[in-house]
Amino acid sequence: MIVAIDGPAGAGKSTVARRLAERLGFRYLDTGAMYRALTWLAMRDAIPLDQGLRLGELARDHPVELDENGRVTIAGSDVTAGIRQARIDRLVPVVARHNEVRTVMRERQRDLAELGNAVIEGRDIGTVVAPDAEVKIYLVADRKVRAERRLAERPDIGADALATDLRMRDESDAARMQPADDAEVIDTSELDVEDVVSRIEALVRAHSPA
Ligand code: C5P
Repeated sequence: MIVAIDGPAGAGKSTVARRLAERLGFRYLDTGAMYRALTWLAMRDAIPLDQGLRLGELARDHPVELDENGRVTIAGSDVTAGIRQARIDRLVPVVARHNEVRTVMRERQRDLAELGNAVIEGRDIGTVVAPDAEVKIYLVADRKVRAERRLAERPDIGADALATDLRMRDESDAARMQPADDAEVIDTSELDVEDVVSRIEALVRAHSPA
């Protein structure tokens, strides 16, 4: 079974998806980490971020590896911490908008999905990567709440800069941020992680043969 969890930054996807995967004993696939790692590599190699063809080749030549402990590796470098910087937050959408990049990522994400039971989080999982996912969730939250959550993760940046980053990222990601028609939309603004996870878990159980 595939559980697709999509939504904007700060809606709670990662925390919820990781926790849900733990509870269900499913694999967890963080597709944002794949785009982040590619962005990190493109910057290291000084590849201009407007060159879709080159970025697509880079993605094909250097598959991102995600291990079960959450470590992210690309081209032999452990980028687990490096991809969680504000600089990367700002530039990922520039890389992720190229079709050449998305094609490579989509293929790889589908291959990983085919291995079976997985919780996959991203922006276009329920719509594009796994349109046949049995359970599709689209998490949303008030922008103020999302900015507060991000601030807890990026205490080094000021609240104003962070709010601006979030708004710009929403704008850049907007084209890919539509809930699937059959997705369950959950507003996490006033919910605890465990409440959200329990709600999704109930949907998963309802889809599973007894
Ligand atoms: O989820 P996360 O914040 O790590 O995603 C980082 C960026 O990667 C997003 O802002 C978006 O530009 C891109 N992304 C995407 N498609 C996905 C996952 C992430 O375009 N499935």
